[in-house]
Amino acid sequence: MTDRGGGGPSAYPEAMFERRLARLRAAMAQADVETTLLSVGADLPWLIGYEAMALERLTMLVVSGDCQPKLVIPAFEVPRVVDRGDLFSVVAWGETENPVSVIADLVGPAGRVAIGDHTWSRFLVALQDAMPSARWLTAGQLTSPLRAVKEPEEIERLQFAASGVDRVAAALQGGEIPLIGRTEADVSAEISRRILAEGHAAVNFAIVASGANAASPHHHASDKVIEPGEVVLCDFGGKTAEADGRPGYCSDITRCMHTGEPSAEFAEAYEALRQAQGDAVVAATVGNEAQAVDAVARDRLAQADLDQWFLHRLGHGIGVEEHEDPYLVEGNAEPLVAGNAFSIEPGFYVADRWGARIEDIVVATEDGPLALNTADHHLAIVEA
Ligand code: ZN
Ligand code: ZN
Ligand code: ZN
Repeated sequence: MTDRGGGGPSAYPEAMFERRLARLRAAMAQADVETTLLSVGADLPWLIGYEAMALERLTMLVVSGDCQPKLVIPAFEVPRVVDRGDLFSVVAWGETENPVSVIADLVGPAGRVAIGDHTWSRFLVALQDAMPSARWLTAGQLTSPLRAVKEPEEIERLQFAASGVDRVAAALQGGEIPLIGRTEADVSAEISRRILAEGHAAVNFAIVASGANAASPHHHASDKVIEPGEVVLCDFGGKTAEADGRPGYCSDITRCMHTGEPSAEFAEAYEALRQAQGDAVVAATVGNEAQAVDAVARDRLAQADLDQWFLHRLGHGIGVEEHEDPYLVEGNAEPLVAGNAFSIEPGFYVADRWGARIEDIVVATEDGPLALNTADHHLAIVEA
């Protein structure tokens, strides 16, 4: 049970979730949506602090009109649900019941229905059969713009996550994590252990790409042994533990080391990248279009003749999910708003030769861009 009267820390999550529910209801009203159905994915824990198990037994929150939301779950999972007072009630379905019928009965005559983007198609198709009058849209159209604007509490949690991976980055840059003579996979495993030791509950990825492998933006970690005289690109992140019913938040950072002195050519290219990344961070101000921030980095790389090798968008939003709105990409003319949290991660990737990327998580605030990652941005020369 939670203390709902005291106003102390234990009462806070409910107030936060109530605010989010009110924002969702307002978005539903504006989009003429009568019902929202949320199952697996990040929307549900963001909204009510409960994460559906991704199993063949259906869990689904029904938000309809002004009625109290109902969490439809397998009966034997009821003990997992934290009592959040009036926020929602639980409807348990028994092992021989059909949960799709339970939901169709709760919704009644259906109009426009928003369904969570990650809902399994087997449930969506069954719901479509059970609710023939419904007109469907993806719930992400409602929830993504809401989730993209972080509250101060969420920024604090993103900062906690960022500071954790900053310390892992510093250990790489300072040579505390040796590189030469180890496989990429071995270094990746050590990065992963350290991310967990920094208060994360999960590692989402720990890319270690050395030498020519750094030319592949999503290379993971192979059995290749790291040699002297190579770039070592490390891009890693995870999700912090859930705390007091609040969901965990994600981290994501990229830093590059070089085993011994780099060539003048690489050092020069890296320096242009460092400036492009720094200029883009400065440009990430409230009111600036997402695509304009991308263009700042691209233009700076063009001056060094590197833009042809910058193969991906500048960045992605981050929060309870590693990749979410807003995306900093050409074509996204949405202006940044205070509370947007996103990566700024330009790179260059020259096939069969080398690559580099620098990535920070940045929050747009009324006082200007706030970089959550502060680990050194220079190319770290390591001797071991
Ligand atoms: Zn990615
Ligand atoms: Zn990354
Ligand atoms: Zn990223």
